[in-house]
Parts: sequence; C-alpha cells; structure tokens
Amino acid sequence: MIGVLRSSRLCLAVAWCALALAPAGSDAAGGPAVEIAPGVFTRNLDPAANQEFVVFDSYVVVFDPGSVVEARNLLAEIQSRIGKPVRYVINSHFHPDHSAGAAMFAAAGAEVVVSEAARPEFENWVPADFAKKVAARPDDYRGLTYAKPTRYLRETWVIDDGVQRLELMHFGPGHTTGDLVGWLPGPRVLFAGDLSTNGQHNLASADLPGWIAVLERLRMLGARQVVPGHKSLAGPELLDKSHQYLRELRTQVAAMVARGMSYEQVMQAVDIPMYEQWSGVSVRNEPTHVRRAYEAAGGTIDEPRPRWSRRRLAAAAGGAGLVMAAGLFLWRRRLRPA
Ligand SMILES: [Zn+2]
Repeated sequence: MIGVLRSSRLCLAVAWCALALAPAGSDAAGGPAVEIAPGVFTRNLDPAANQEFVVFDSYVVVFDPGSVVEARNLLAEIQSRIGKPVRYVINSHFHPDHSAGAAMFAAAGAEVVVSEAARPEFENWVPADFAKKVAARPDDYRGLTYAKPTRYLRETWVIDDGVQRLELMHFGPGHTTGDLVGWLPGPRVLFAGDLSTNGQHNLASADLPGWIAVLERLRMLGARQVVPGHKSLAGPELLDKSHQYLRELRTQVAAMVARGMSYEQVMQAVDIPMYEQWSGVSVRNEPTHVRRAYEAAGGTIDEPRPRWSRRRLAAAAGGAGLVMAAGLFLWRRRLRPA
C-alpha cells in the first residue's frame, strides 16, 4: 500500500517534464538515433526522456523505452535500421516518461527488466497509471496492455555475448528508490537515467542523501560519455555537476534547519546560482528540491490544515446536537402545564 506522502510524490513525478534551457549538442533533439560508440545508440527527445539501445550479435537491448509514442517510433527504427529482435527492455526507473513504452517492446516479444527496489511501484502505481492513460489516450495506447516486468534485478546483472557487454546496476535509492543505470565498460558509456539530467532535475520521488552517494559511485566508474535521462549527451563532468548541485542544496538547507529556520524561510533564503545558470530555473522555484533537503536535515514541515478538519466537523456536529437537545428540553418544559 502506498502511503499518502508517497502517493503525492508519485503524482508530482508524473507531472515531471524537463524544461531546462541548456543548448542542444551534437545529439540534437528529435530525429533518428545517433551511434555514439560501435553498436551503442541514443535518441535525444528533448524535453521528453532520452532513449538508448545496444546492438548485440543476434538481438538488441533497449534502455529507457520512453513514452508509448516514442517507443513505437524507436521500435520501427530498430526494425528497419538494425533488423534484429529486441530481447530485453530495461526501465531505469518507474516514471512513465521513461517506462510506459516498455509495453510496446513487450508486445513485440521483449522481456521487461527493472530493479527489485522498484517492485512496489511497478506492481501498484504504474499499472494503475497505465490503465488511466489507456482510457484517456486510446489512440496512443491502441492494442497495448500493461506489461509486467519479467525480471527484477537486485544489484548487478550483466548481458554479455562476447560482442557487447552491458552491466545493469542498482546503487541504492537516489532519483527514486529503484534506479538502474546501464554501464558499457568497453566504450565507457554510462546510461544514467534521471540520476543525471543535463539541466533541471526532478526530486519529486528522491532520496537526497542517497542520490548524492549514488553519484559518488557513478563518478568512480570513469565514464567517457554520460547519456542523461533528459537533454544532451555529455562527458563525465555532468555527474560532477549533478553532484555539486545536490550537495550544495543539502549543505545550505541543513545549515538553515540547524539555525531553526522554517521551510518557508528556507525557500526564500536558499541560493544556488550554478543551478539557475545550468537549468534556467531558480532553486527558489523548486519547492520539491527544498522540501527533500529540509526533510533530509530533520526539519518538519507544517502542512496547512484545512479550516474544517473531520475532527472539528464532528465536534461541531456534536455541539449542534447538544444545542438542539437543550432547545427541545426547554420547549417541552414550556408545554408542560404549570
Ligand atoms: Zn524520473
């Protein structure tokens, strides 16, 4: 059962769309996939999620299928350009802008692979969200049903056929509780999912201290190219940038919590110019970022209370009942003969 707080985080996550203003690089948005290393392809669909795929000897592995519409386009491209079946489709995490299209590849015979840590979302929230979208967008979802994952990975799983080697790894909670990354040790390419985006970050489902720790592990891989969850391909400095921002966010907010500042005061005071220069969005306009940092520092956020809570309504109803009973008692006494 997903708790109230968790549900609200999930709902925020669905609304995510990367809107950062970073300039496009050589992998300009839209169009066919770009081969960034032998047999390793990416499609930059800015502002939608990036897609990646790796060509093995007799099959293809897709990492982050994206939306069902973009998955349909990618499947067509793989069939016409590569001509091999897709054997596995890997979801870096449960956010539907990355994972909904897995249904398209599953319908074509692929196994759906996710992290074991993401099992609760893939068994509860994701199928419900999928069903809602089938009803709301029947043209986009035509003929598709939700494809349950067929393989849950605990930490590491390696796909190696002697031609390509793709290592899938889960390093703990970060952008979500169950992120997977794809690592190609040959060309030193990292598929980072939303653990790093080249601009605005989404902390709706995040574990901030966990995310910082995961980025430290990812930096140690020694990637030459990093394919982020959104926006343009970059070098290893992208991981440094994400790490720098999240660490600065944690440090500033923790110092303010230690001084006893409220969440609202922190929202006014926090200032990270590098994030605004990078993403085009001020951290003061990122309430979920500050909220995650505030909670991680042990701060408690007072939620605005409804004017009429259930308890107050019950109390008021009880009070009204007493008044009515007293009125009835007095009225009966009036009717009684003197
Ligand atoms: Zn995400």
